[in-house]
Amino acid sequence: MENELAFTLHLAMYQEADLGDFMMNFRNVLIRLKPSEVIQLENICCTNIIDLMMELLPCHEPHDVPWFECFSFFEPADLDNEFMEKEAVKGKGAFVQALWTQYAIPKLYGLVYKAWRRYGAQNLTPWTRLAQTVLDGCFGQKWSDCVFQVPDTCSICLSPMHWPEKTQCGHSFHLRCLLRHLDMIGHTCPLCRTPTPAAPLDTVLSPRKMGE
Ligand SMILES: [Zn+2]
Ligand SMILES: [Zn+2]
Repeated sequence: MENELAFTLHLAMYQEADLGDFMMNFRNVLIRLKPSEVIQLENICCTNIIDLMMELLPCHEPHDVPWFECFSFFEPADLDNEFMEKEAVKGKGAFVQALWTQYAIPKLYGLVYKAWRRYGAQNLTPWTRLAQTVLDGCFGQKWSDCVFQVPDTCSICLSPMHWPEKTQCGHSFHLRCLLRHLDMIGHTCPLCRTPTPAAPLDTVLSPRKMGE
């Protein structure tokens, strides 16, 4: 797991016993952390993360924190990470949890390491608060419902769909699979052959899918 790998690497890089102790305690906190019962709006989360970062690492670029918005609008398969892809198929937020262990925790270890080197001994309380905010931020993104259910498979490419695109006849496909079909085969639904408009324009142009 990336989180354990990052933990070992950061521990090995810095030999001082006091950081070692801190890292062990921080690791125990991170392993047990659960998303809050009530998750704040995405933008409140962002502001809180930036405020905490300014407090903990004042010279650090405050936007250089685990940021997950970009993960919440494309298919996990596009990540090219076998572990993430396998988790995504399970549904129930397994993909979001994997984002936390594969990307967020390693990043937090890196930030602690940096703060320790720059400013000396650290206090666990604000770091725990940062970690909690980051975890809540993961779950607070605009995830498709399918991220928390077992996803359906796309009947064109047979792989899971977290962002299904529905045709007027009610069938769902990956947007890219549907567009390729419309382009190559013509304007009918790939399953039931109901005539389908050229492109679901509202979705193609929506800022979410365009990555803003
Ligand atoms: Zn597909
Ligand atoms: Zn159809």
